[in-house]
Amino acid sequence: MFRISKKKIPEFLKAARVKFEVIAPVRENGASFFKIISETDKVYLGPGNTDYSPKRFFFPETEQMFAYGMEGKVTPRETVRKRLLFGIRPCDAAGLKTIDKLFESEPADPYYSEKRKNTLLAVLDCAKPGKNCFCDSMETRDAKEYDLLFREHGDYYYVDVKTEEGKALITPLFENADSEPEFKREKCKKKLQLVAESKMTFKKWGERCFSCGSCTSVCPTCTCFDAEDLVDFAGGVSRKRRWASCFTRSYSKVSGGHVFREPVPDRLKQFMLHKLKYHKDKYGPQMCVGCGRCISVCLAGIDITKVSSGK
Ligand code: SF4
Ligand code: SF4
Repeated sequence: MFRISKKKIPEFLKAARVKFEVIAPVRENGASFFKIISETDKVYLGPGNTDYSPKRFFFPETEQMFAYGMEGKVTPRETVRKRLLFGIRPCDAAGLKTIDKLFESEPADPYYSEKRKNTLLAVLDCAKPGKNCFCDSMETRDAKEYDLLFREHGDYYYVDVKTEEGKALITPLFENADSEPEFKREKCKKKLQLVAESKMTFKKWGERCFSCGSCTSVCPTCTCFDAEDLVDFAGGVSRKRRWASCFTRSYSKVSGGHVFREPVPDRLKQFMLHKLKYHKDKYGPQMCVGCGRCISVCLAGIDITKVSSGK
């Protein structure tokens, strides 16, 4: 166990930037999100998690998969620099573990896998949950997926080291600590209590939904994408993928023009049951990690904890 003074965090990140691309939370123009930081960026460490998850650093909004010209030369995908993701919360780290199941099952997705294997996680534990968090209900409150785990105690962060790569980040900026004081955590105010599928309120809430897809954009575990081939007049072709949302009409449109999930409540049902049932049935843990972002972002006031508990 180590500890580091809060005042030394900028110095720690500066030193880390020599070897790593450092990704950390910032707050700009009223929104909090992760970015690749430079020396002038001020890192935002809460309270609560960021408005946007760090998912885009593993699965970007748009991503070129490959390109090739008439002569058949394929452009290789960009290589990823070694990265340190600092300040990710336990729920989002659990979210990464969840989407590992999707992207790293055979055949593994090389675009995701390369980014994931080159990224160290320095998780920041939560003492106080955000107003819409419900990680207590999803078994994602305790950090399990990390290289380094930081916990705030007064003027210090106490740091647990889990991996050799994490250990290499411990510099003289850190002091040895024999033991960690008790970490006091507030409980989440929200709870998710699943009722039978027939009692969930998809119709009541789905009729209010605008199909905007904001919830799926901010969700750390939504990973659907669409792919398109783009041809340029010089004879080159590139394939790109971009985020898709099960809330949009086009998502369930198939050849011949049939839309198999036309009523919006059916789309809400698909989203909720994918998060709380289908993924769990196939892979084990729930897909929803209880970050609460889909609740915070929804202009229609749709709340996964209410729908799934029949309210
Ligand atoms: S549930 Fe809310 S955020 Fe999601 S698509 Fe519907 S209106 Fe948009
Ligand atoms: S479904 Fe909502 S609460 Fe669950 S992980 Fe996604 S954004 Fe977070």
